[in-house]
This record gives sequence, C-alpha cells and structure tokens, in this order.
Amino acid sequence: MSEDLRLELIATARRMAECGINRGTSGNLSVRHGEGFYITPTGMEYAALEVDDIAWMPIGGNGAAQGRRKPSSEWRFHHDLYATRPEAQAVLHAHSTFAISLACLRSGIPPFHYMIALFGGDTVRCADYATFGTQELSDAALQAMQDRSACLLANHGLLVFGKDLQQALDHAIELEGLCEQYWRACQLGQPVLLSKKEMAVVLEKFGSYGQQNQLT
Ligand code: 13P
Ligand code: ZN
Repeated sequence: MSEDLRLELIATARRMAECGINRGTSGNLSVRHGEGFYITPTGMEYAALEVDDIAWMPIGGNGAAQGRRKPSSEWRFHHDLYATRPEAQAVLHAHSTFAISLACLRSGIPPFHYMIALFGGDTVRCADYATFGTQELSDAALQAMQDRSACLLANHGLLVFGKDLQQALDHAIELEGLCEQYWRACQLGQPVLLSKKEMAVVLEKFGSYGQQNQLT
C-alpha cells in the first residue's frame, strides 16, 4: 500500500474543484498502482477525504475492492482503461461546464485549434450516451478513446487519462479550456477548421515537443 500515492491522489482530486473543472461529489480520479489502481470513493466530498478512504481495485477483479469505502460508481471505465491502455497511468473524469455543454450536443470537438492534437488525434470524440456507472458507458467511452487519451461523454462530462496524476489534471484543464474556446468561437460565427494535413503536421511535431532530452 502506497500512502504517498494515495495522498497525491487526494491532493489532485481537491485541485479538480479548486481549478473549476469539478464540484461536489461529481467526477472521480484514479492512479495505477501495482496490478491494479487506487480510486476515489463514491459519493464523498474530496475535502473530507482521508488516505484510508481511497479504495484499491485489482485489474480483472470483477469489481472487487480493498478498503473501507465503496469505490467510485464509475470504476468500470477506470478499470477498462488500465486493462487495455498500458500508457494510462492516471484517469480523471469531471463534470466541467463547457465539456458538458458540448457533450449535450453529442458532436465532439473538431480541429478548430491545433491543441486538439494533445489528445492523440484530429478530433476529440463524444461517446454515445449510456447511464452513469454502467458497463455500457465504459464500452462507449473506450470506443470513443480509440487512439485518443480523451473523450466527451454524451450529456455527462469529460474523461481523460495521462502518464501521471499531474498530466491527467493538466490535460483535463486543457480540454475544458478548448471546449470553452470552441463554444466562444461558435458564438461569433463558424470556426474555420484545420485540415487533416495540417493536423498531421502538428501530431508529428507533438512527438518531439517539450524538454524531451534535457540534461538534469
Ligand atoms: P462517484 O461519486 O461514484 O465517483 O460518481 C460521480 C460521477 O461523476 C458519476 O458519473
Ligand atoms: Zn460523472
């Protein structure tokens, strides 16, 4: 049992509310650990969370959980991402205002801005609607996240994964920002979309973007 990782999970969950992408008991957060993952408990305010409130679930455990609290009702899509996407180290789901607004149109986000490539493709898809907490929702989300690290959930919210908790949070904030920017642009007219070719150039460039080879 890693106390440090559970503390980091709680701190990151609290920052979801502080930075305005989540509120109340909506949303959930998890981080891969060993042959499973730690996940926030269902229906609890993050402000009140203690280390022992964080459940651990094994991959392939059919919903079995260790800990004193019931895990998030959305454990299925967290579980299924860890089981099928080795690059997923932390998974974040939030009910953020602009992501929800677009998700209610069930249309996803087109390449109106090159930063869409951050999530691995030239669009961010919107998963089909399914009731929260169901296997049907997990299946729809994973399908929408094929070759992507994010999607919108129809009439519900957003879902992202990252290489660690910090990146999952950063990418969720970026996605919510893009949803807001797209919404604002649509108020002014019809945004001009980037072409497949233009997005392919950005996707290629993102592979070598940042401090990849810095000396420490
Ligand atoms: P939990 O409190 O069970 O994590 O559920 C919140 C939520 O966002 C359901 O989709
Ligand atoms: Zn939700």
